[in-house]
Formats: sequence, C-alpha cells, structure tokens
Amino acid sequence: MRLTYPFTAIVGQERMKRALLLNAVHPLIGGVLIRGERGTAKSTAARALAALLPDIEAVEGCPFSCHPDRPAGLCATCQRQPEANGSLPTVFRPTPFVDLPVSATEDRVVGTLDIEKAIRKGERHFEPGILAAANRGVLYVDEVNLLDDHVVDLLLDSAAMGVNVVEREGISVQHPARFVLVGSMNPEEGDLRPQLLDRFAHAVDVVGITEPRERVEILRRRMAFEQNPQQFYEEWADAEQEMGRRIIAARRAYEDVTYTQKDLYTIAALTASFNVDGHRADIVILKTARAQAAFDGRDHITDRDILLAAELALPHRMKKQPFQEAVLQPDQLDASMRQARAEAEQAYTDEDVAQEAQAGSTQVDEKKAPRAMTQK
Ligand SMILES: [Zn+2]
Repeated sequence: MRLTYPFTAIVGQERMKRALLLNAVHPLIGGVLIRGERGTAKSTAARALAALLPDIEAVEGCPFSCHPDRPAGLCATCQRQPEANGSLPTVFRPTPFVDLPVSATEDRVVGTLDIEKAIRKGERHFEPGILAAANRGVLYVDEVNLLDDHVVDLLLDSAAMGVNVVEREGISVQHPARFVLVGSMNPEEGDLRPQLLDRFAHAVDVVGITEPRERVEILRRRMAFEQNPQQFYEEWADAEQEMGRRIIAARRAYEDVTYTQKDLYTIAALTASFNVDGHRADIVILKTARAQAAFDGRDHITDRDILLAAELALPHRMKKQPFQEAVLQPDQLDASMRQARAEAEQAYTDEDVAQEAQAGSTQVDEKKAPRAMTQK
C-alpha cells in the first residue's frame, strides 16, 4: 500500500487545514476551494484528510458504502434486504478518497440509468458513478476551473444536499452522497464563474511559505518521508489517530452546539458590512462556527468561532471594488466583528434574552436562519 503524507505533518497553511478539518466534521457545510500556485500541497492535503479519517463501517457489497445503523439513509438495494433493520452484514473500509479527473462527464459523475432495460424488462438498472464511490469520503477535484461548468454544478449540489438524484425520462434513482468536496485551482489558469464560486462554502488562498525556518522544516519532513515513508508515518501515527478521533467526536457533538439570537444577529451584521450577495455566507458562517465549537469541545458558539468562520466564508464572496483586489484584511474583519457584536447587543435587550431562555429554545433551523435574522 502506498503511504500518504500525514495530515498532521503538513507545515503551516493553517487556514487551509482548518477549512478541511471543519468540513470533515460537518460535510454539509458545502466544500472547500483551495486557490494557489503549483507545489503548495493542495492535493497532498486533500488526500491526507481522507487518510486521517478512521475506517468506516459499511454494508458489505454496497457500492455506496451505506451506514448500517442509519435505516433512513440506506440506498434502495440495502433497504430491500430483510436485515435492513440494523443487522445487515458489514465490513470496515478505508474512508474513500476519489480524485475526479478533469475530463469527467456527467454520466461518469452521477452514474447511469439503463433506460432501455427499464422499458424492456421493467427493471431499474443503475450503474453507480463517482458520487457513489465518494459517499462518506473525500472528493477531490484538481483544476476545478477547467472542469465542465455543468459537472461542477452537479458536484456542488450533491455536496450541499448529501444525496445524488438521477432522473431520466420519468425514472428516478437516488442514493446517499455525503462527502467532503475539495476543489483546487491555480488562479493563473483562469477563474471559476462567480455563480459557482459562491457555492463553495469556503475558499482559502494558499501561497508558498517564505519564512526560511518553516521552509527548512518542510524540506526536512519531505526528505524524511521520501526516504522511509513507513517510518515517517509511524512517527506521526499518534498525532494522526488523535486528530481522527477528535473529528469523529466533533461530528457527534455538532447537532448539540447551540447559538443565540444575538449570535445570529452578529453574523448577519457582519456579512452585511462586507456587502456580500445573498444569504449563503450567513448560513455557511453559522454551520462553520458550530463545527469549530464542536471541534474545540464546546457546546455553544463564541465570537471567535464566528470570526474564524468568516475568514473562510467571506474571501470569495466580497464584491470587487474598482482598482481594488477583493482581499479580506484581518484588521477590517476584527473591526467589523466588534461593530457587529455591538449592534447585536443593542438590538437585543436583556429582556429579549430572558424571554428566549424562557422559551427554552435557542435553536433556529439553519435553513430558516436568514429570515429569522432579518426580522429585527
Ligand atoms: Zn446501500
């Protein structure tokens, strides 16, 4: 087996690593776009993320790697089995890592429905595609800007929904497709259309590290890995396992991470101050902040979670000003965050908070969050 360079051994690139880890905690955040020059560890990081995640328990023989304990999320074939009530035979497999070729067609990605067979024999025959193989894993698309727009659209849809739906001539098949979408591109080789750009939850720009000491460390680890991958991996095995466990624990904790109306107001005021289109950024920030809190072992989100989430959700959504590159400045983000929180404090009196506490629920459905946030 070819060994993968360990995720925890990657030097620097903290923002990229954070985006990948949080998407692994909650894949429905909706994916990461990594922009950078060649040789900045983009594909290494995506591959390493999959290798970091523990093996998954899946229904034996299922092409979608169905989770045996989730009857609601089973594919049609697993559902039909008599043991579908939780006693299906299972195997452990490595977390899938799928590297999507840039030449991939729609059929190859979503799978193919054999319409002729369906009409002739009345049987539904579905040949699973790349989205089936990627379920519960990591789907990596290098040079995503060179991929057919329509295919990128399909990938982003599935990543956000967690299912793949194929419809041909009135016949429809669907199966679970919950995966971490990682796209990478070199901006010098053309841009991604703005409509597609906005649908990547996170964007991070990676640049080569210039600090000499860090460069030496990168070099040293690379050499050690190339000389003896097995030994290098063993040196990092504890850190890898620990990180893998932390992600799994955060996945379980995610749904219980709470937030207040004030937090929602803070997020809304923050995104409004950056003049972003639509509400996607707000939803992404909320989900990301919750994943961050779960990852840090907290049961509620903080201003820092919101700030860190905004760093990942805003860079590709800011409108370009004339003669200005749309770059997110840390000072500007800090100042806007303070302003947003101050507005939230004013908008919600102590009385509101008390009422909220009395109502016993600080949770708002994430999908309805934007409406709730703009009411005040
Ligand atoms: Zn299945």
